[in-house]
Amino acid sequence: MTPPMSDLAHPLFRFLASRLAPAGPGARLSILIFHRVLAAPDPLFPSEATVETFDAQMGLLKSVFNVLPLPEAIVRLQAGTLPARAAAITFDDGYADNVELALPILQRHGLHATFFIATSYLNGGRMFNDTVIESIRRCTQPRLDLSDLGLGMHDLGSGAAKALAIGKILPQVKYQPLDAREDLVARIASRAGVSSLPGDLMMTTRQLQALHAAGMEIGGHTHRHPILAKLDDAGARAEIAAGKTWLEDTLGDRVRLFAYPNGKPGADYLPQQAEIVRGLGFDAAVSTQRGVSTRQSDVFQLPRFTPWDVNRTAYALRLLQNLKAA
Ligand SMILES: [Zn+2]
Repeated sequence: MTPPMSDLAHPLFRFLASRLAPAGPGARLSILIFHRVLAAPDPLFPSEATVETFDAQMGLLKSVFNVLPLPEAIVRLQAGTLPARAAAITFDDGYADNVELALPILQRHGLHATFFIATSYLNGGRMFNDTVIESIRRCTQPRLDLSDLGLGMHDLGSGAAKALAIGKILPQVKYQPLDAREDLVARIASRAGVSSLPGDLMMTTRQLQALHAAGMEIGGHTHRHPILAKLDDAGARAEIAAGKTWLEDTLGDRVRLFAYPNGKPGADYLPQQAEIVRGLGFDAAVSTQRGVSTRQSDVFQLPRFTPWDVNRTAYALRLLQNLKAA
């Protein structure tokens, strides 16, 4: 574990952040993106946030930035009334650990977050990436031959080799059409000789309702998490609308914000899909384009980023560096 950053550093970071992100019309809004918070370090994903690192990151974030609920931050960004050093916290996909592990930490720090939920995987489902990850994790074979599936041959002889294999396989699977993608990951699981995969990675409806009842914002993230850029307009609209309707029916509340699955403009979603999101009655949407939002930003394509450093000084510097991005 890294030594705690000196409290004396906080005023310095606050000073620098205020210079880079002043209050008012020239404000800059940092929107952070998270997916999971783990109970313990995962050898396959050493840089993924754990309870311990997330707790430290939230403490640091709160001491340097003014963290606002994202809906309020967006309204104030447009109105030119944001405070200096404005930031908002978001989570994508709907992992159960968001409720079980992240929520208590957020509450302890008095912080608000927005959770973007892919609705079809709740209640026992599993995202395609997790089928690949958990199959490789459980595979006891030293090598996995997926060449007939067009996915190559992979050494699985160590944790590092498994992490490398996952990193090579996922990008090739991600952009397949939805049904082909499901079929492909089922074949990978079968080829890995894995018969049982976890069915509790995502939230239940009750957990989602508890998150909403705790005052957290729930946003849309489509129903099945497709790469929207690969769909025609009708298909994209149906996926985005299905997720929104399900969430609104389940929560009895309007769903105001949307996050594009995978989220890279041009590759994962297209300008016409931002128009579909607007037309479906969302107030704003976020991408995974790195950067910081200004009053000039397209409110249906607000950038987000993830500072990944475990070391707290490096984490703070990364947040400051992002404020320099246009
Ligand atoms: Zn996602």
